[in-house]
Amino acid sequence: MTGETAPRRRVLLHVCCAPCGTHSADVLRRDWDVTLFFSNSNIAPEAEYERRLTAARQLAAAAALPLVVDAYDHAAWLQAVRGLEDEPERGRRCESCFAFSLGRAAAYAREHGFEAFTTTLTISPHKSSPTLFRIGESLGGFLAMDFKKQDGFRRSVEASRRLGLYRQDSCGCEFSRRPPPGGSPGRPAR
Ligand code: SF4
Repeated sequence: MTGETAPRRRVLLHVCCAPCGTHSADVLRRDWDVTLFFSNSNIAPEAEYERRLTAARQLAAAAALPLVVDAYDHAAWLQAVRGLEDEPERGRRCESCFAFSLGRAAAYAREHGFEAFTTTLTISPHKSSPTLFRIGESLGGFLAMDFKKQDGFRRSVEASRRLGLYRQDSCGCEFSRRPPPGGSPGRPAR
């Protein structure tokens, strides 16, 4: 007996935005060594992407967690959702969007020796956790964490306010900012 403890397993946490990363990282780091992975080619325009990336850097500094920033390639993302532009939010375009970002997280995790990857997307009441689990599990190495459990979304809102993080009012892509047919263009903050 040397008394040494086994090294903790490493998980790559795909962070869709800093506010969603707050509570999700807190939950995960109880059992894992967490690395944040900012891979969000869905976000447009690029100025909005930069704003969310700045907030992710703020979160990484406040939480003392490493942050990996993936390449931003909105043209490739547009290609991945081609033909689905007019789908409603929560529809098939969003499934392709999830597959795009989770696919990049899965590949990075595999290539860099992480035991698992997961995503903050499950914390949003606007996102279906079963859909995210199905897509994540199809990629291999996915850790199915439903961060919206135990009041996760409210906790993330409170934490992001405490840290003064930028909170957007649309999901991310240009199609998520279209007003709903016959509806108001206003959307709840997320
Ligand atoms: S609404 Fe959100 S999840 Fe759906 S395609 Fe756009 S960025 Fe992706």
